[in-house]
Amino acid sequence: MSRNSELFERACKVIPGGVNSPVRAFGSVGGTPCFVERAQGPYIWDADGQQYTDYVGSWGPAILGHSDPDVIKAVQEAAVHGLSYGAPTEGEVVLAETLTQMLPSIEQVRLVSSGTEATMSAIRLARGFTGRNTIIKFEGCYHGHADSLLVKAGSGLLTFGNPTSAGVPAEFVAHTLVLDYNNLDAVRDAFKQKGDEIACIIVEPFAGNMNLVRPAPGFLEGLRELCTEYGAVLIFDEVMTGFRVGPQGVQGLTGIRPDLTTLAKVIGGGMPVGAFGGRRDIMQCVAPVGGVYQAGTLSGNPVAVAAGLATLKKLAQPGFYDTLTANTANLIQGLKAAAQEAGVPFTADHQGGLFGIYFSENVPTSLAAVSAGDIERFKQFFHAMLDKGVYFAPSAFEAGFVSVQHTSDITDATVQAAREVFANFKN
Ligand code: PLP
Repeated sequence: MSRNSELFERACKVIPGGVNSPVRAFGSVGGTPCFVERAQGPYIWDADGQQYTDYVGSWGPAILGHSDPDVIKAVQEAAVHGLSYGAPTEGEVVLAETLTQMLPSIEQVRLVSSGTEATMSAIRLARGFTGRNTIIKFEGCYHGHADSLLVKAGSGLLTFGNPTSAGVPAEFVAHTLVLDYNNLDAVRDAFKQKGDEIACIIVEPFAGNMNLVRPAPGFLEGLRELCTEYGAVLIFDEVMTGFRVGPQGVQGLTGIRPDLTTLAKVIGGGMPVGAFGGRRDIMQCVAPVGGVYQAGTLSGNPVAVAAGLATLKKLAQPGFYDTLTANTANLIQGLKAAAQEAGVPFTADHQGGLFGIYFSENVPTSLAAVSAGDIERFKQFFHAMLDKGVYFAPSAFEAGFVSVQHTSDITDATVQAAREVFANFKN
């Protein structure tokens, strides 16, 4: 029995499904998950000693590649001074200053320990600020696992959603409207009918949780206009896209200024850091200055903050995003060309260090379009690539991640492996 299988068997006895976050269980693709022993640069090694080129990157944080020496050094140096104090530190101030300097829409920011905490808190804040209850989210966008966000569309366009998880009472999602991503008309209708009840829109401005789906031209602009017109709060959930698609996230790419932004992943450099921030007048509603309660024993943890700061410092170096984009483009262009040579229906998209691969003719623009892709083909591709030492996300509904360490020799090798896999598809 392989060591991965042995560990999985042991894990399943003591951890539900053997994993501490569901997608890790390989449920969507089948097979035994890789238990990771170590990671360096673009590579991970599993418990059987197998090396993989990693295109998951811890689901986003590993933008510098794994175990970046400067980040490791910062963590070691911080750890020597103590792991947690539950009192303010200078590092938190520097991280908040850095975030407000790097993202102009953020005038004030509060640190938390995960993306889920960031979005949950941002929604509470939007409700507290507006005095309204209803929130709008979009089908296929994931914003963490807070109760009111585990919801799918109801039967009618403007009926409230149904919980997607057992244990979430229908009443808890009774204030969440779920609309189709990229359908601005539906949002307009919702505001026409319920405009004075809507506290906020929360949106992944590039959706990375239904594979990669871009906003249609005018979609984000429309959301901005409607929120301004009706006095609702526009929340960009940039937990995945923040510092990943470019130095200022999607707001930098589009020039659209959200009222609040949620961040996590890259800003912790692999350690648990999240953040929500934005307009000063809104942030002033957060306790202890305002009445919206929000707290955390490990919020602003000194070791995690040190990892985040060391990471952000490296992202600010000239040419960082050019290299990252070139690495991703090399992978994506290569994969597309290889699929075309083999006559495999396939396309792909990318921005900065984020990419989507689709077993369909066209780049999808909604969850329905992603679901219409050839999911079985993806599963075959995933396992065939894994056998060749390439670790893609174990689901057709997840985006992929490239680091600055995925140089062209590495992505060329991935493309060569894919060429062999695609050739076998043909036969
Ligand atoms: N928001 C987005 C866009 C995400 O991609 C994720 C996680 O993947 C979250 C929120 C939740 O973050 P976390 O897993 O850190 O709680």
